[in-house]
Amino acid sequence: MKQIKEAVGPDPKHEIEVLCSNCGYDLDETELTAESCLNCGESLNLRQNTKIYATSVPPAGGITLV
Ligand SMILES: [Zn+2]
Repeated sequence: MKQIKEAVGPDPKHEIEVLCSNCGYDLDETELTAESCLNCGESLNLRQNTKIYATSVPPAGGITLV
């Protein structure tokens, strides 16, 4: 699950991704409260990846999927 957080005050725009720390499964919002990971079956430990959006860099382009 990716949550986009808009820039607020001193915080830049950023993205928070919540994953299973065991297998890296991308958890849905409704799966965050589960006791075990739906993907690997291990007891659920969350890992958060935070990505900061660099405001001075334009959105990536030029990738064309045919
Ligand atoms: Zn897992």
